[in-house]
Amino acid sequence: MILMAVAVSMTLDQRIDDAAKTVEPKVIECRRDIHQHPELGNREFRTSKLVADRLRQLGIEVRTPIAHTGVIGILRGGKPGRVVGFRADMDALPVVEQVDLPFKSTARTTYNGQEVGVMHACGHDAHVAILLGVAEVLSSVRSELPGTVVFLFQPAEEGAPQGEEGGAALMVKEGALDNPKVDAVFGLHVTSRIAVGEIAYRPGAEMAAVDSFRIKVHGKQTHGAIKVHGRQTHGAYPWLGVDPIVVASQIVLALQTIPSRQLDISLAPAVVTVGAIHGGVRNNIIPDEVEMIGTIRSLDEKMRSDIHQRIKRTAQDIATSGGATADVTIETGYPVTYNDPALTEKMAPTLRKVTSAVIVMNPTLGAEDFSFYQQKVPGLFFFVGTRPKNQTAEEAASNHSPLFYVDESGLGLGIRAMARVAADYLRSVAPSP
Ligand SMILES: [Zn+2]
Ligand SMILES: [Zn+2]
Repeated sequence: MILMAVAVSMTLDQRIDDAAKTVEPKVIECRRDIHQHPELGNREFRTSKLVADRLRQLGIEVRTPIAHTGVIGILRGGKPGRVVGFRADMDALPVVEQVDLPFKSTARTTYNGQEVGVMHACGHDAHVAILLGVAEVLSSVRSELPGTVVFLFQPAEEGAPQGEEGGAALMVKEGALDNPKVDAVFGLHVTSRIAVGEIAYRPGAEMAAVDSFRIKVHGKQTHGAIKVHGRQTHGAYPWLGVDPIVVASQIVLALQTIPSRQLDISLAPAVVTVGAIHGGVRNNIIPDEVEMIGTIRSLDEKMRSDIHQRIKRTAQDIATSGGATADVTIETGYPVTYNDPALTEKMAPTLRKVTSAVIVMNPTLGAEDFSFYQQKVPGLFFFVGTRPKNQTAEEAASNHSPLFYVDESGLGLGIRAMARVAADYLRSVAPSP
């Protein structure tokens, strides 16, 4: 009787923290299970079933499939209010695990026609386990929640296999935020850049937009039966053609002047990288075509489209000046991960309540498809540290490395942070009684 009275008098925050502690061992166990059974994007069949089964056990309404293997859980609180969404990505990477763990992955599969190893090298196993933990915590305080929590378990954050759609863009397209209509969305990423116990976020642009480009420079192969010492040769007579290798070289250098000389980089940094360049077959033949591919990173949507225009102009005008032509194609990838400033300001105190180690980070030029949700509704994406405390950021293997290691003692903070954000957000926007 006395114990019950104590339980009833506990605040919602205390009950959430207690429940988070209780579910933590289960979350770790679940993370190990998923870690040992990683699946690539759009192929998360086992993970998806595990998620749906678990949500149903908790009495949460389940919608599946969405966006191939996605699962949506809808938890309706006991009081009227708004709708808050939480996202976890479920996919692993084509990487052979090199971490020596009892639950190490030995999975193999085919990816774009090649046989590969599969590993949760980006920590999405932890994201799924944490969000299932959050679902359990919030179910236990369901009657006190003013509003609805939508759990978005998303496939293919790392990109869908060739020729397939997937990830957050497809979740949004298939109505993940529409029924019920989500008012704000939150997501987290575990990282070895910060230590266990730390949270990092940034208001506004936090992660980059990523786009790729392909430039084909068409010159004119020197041709004709030009005979020198009885051998047919071409490279000796460049004036008879248009050399696309020299033109391409000028383009590579000029592209670097877009971030360094043309953009106002005091507003936000940007990067243009040529990652591969191909042309020609031997030393004394001038080829007729050179192809280069590269990536563009930007932190501002206006700068992003400006860079695209400048890349086209630079390549085409330099080609023209040399008598060549350039075909430029730009494929847009993920938008800027943009943390809504008002929402971030509203929720930052909650993050500071769950840990004293909150870092306002520099933007990163990595990308996240969480940004597609943020294009639809205000969102906040933050990082949770899973680097062992005795390691420095330089020593720790980064996400995507075959040595990427998650210190599980950091997962509890992820559960508490998300569950408290849910409760605080819903209470802050609840209709007054
Ligand atoms: Zn990743
Ligand atoms: Zn990731």
